[in-house]
Amino acid sequence: MTELTRNQALVFDALSKSHAPLSAYSLLDQLRDHGFRAPLQVYRALEKLQEAGLVHRLESLNAFVACAHKHDDHDGHCHGLVAFAICDKCGQVTEFSDKEIEARLTGWADRSGFRAEKTTMEIRGHCALCA
Ligand SMILES: [Zn+2]
Ligand SMILES: [Zn+2]
Repeated sequence: MTELTRNQALVFDALSKSHAPLSAYSLLDQLRDHGFRAPLQVYRALEKLQEAGLVHRLESLNAFVACAHKHDDHDGHCHGLVAFAICDKCGQVTEFSDKEIEARLTGWADRSGFRAEKTTMEIRGHCALCA
């Protein structure tokens, strides 16, 4: 398990408790009572948490979610490609990974000689409860 600093633990905790993604600024607002003063403190913590695979950034929302997978047994990210289904009504985010999609994308990259650094998949719409 990755050792977290106090700030990283606070940010991760706030994201874990939130049912919807949080922007860096709403994290800062929530954590002011814990001594957070500057956006940079939040960004630094988020950066480390992302490196550790504990937090994901949602590009289309410019917001962050805690990884839905358990990280108890091992360090780092337990899955490759991550996809997100984002409900535009209630804000719920469902994280999933799909080996077949990943294999296809990797296959394409191999064939075309493209060196993929990062793949983002975000599906926007309505969750089962809101649809
Ligand atoms: Zn994840
Ligand atoms: Zn919904």
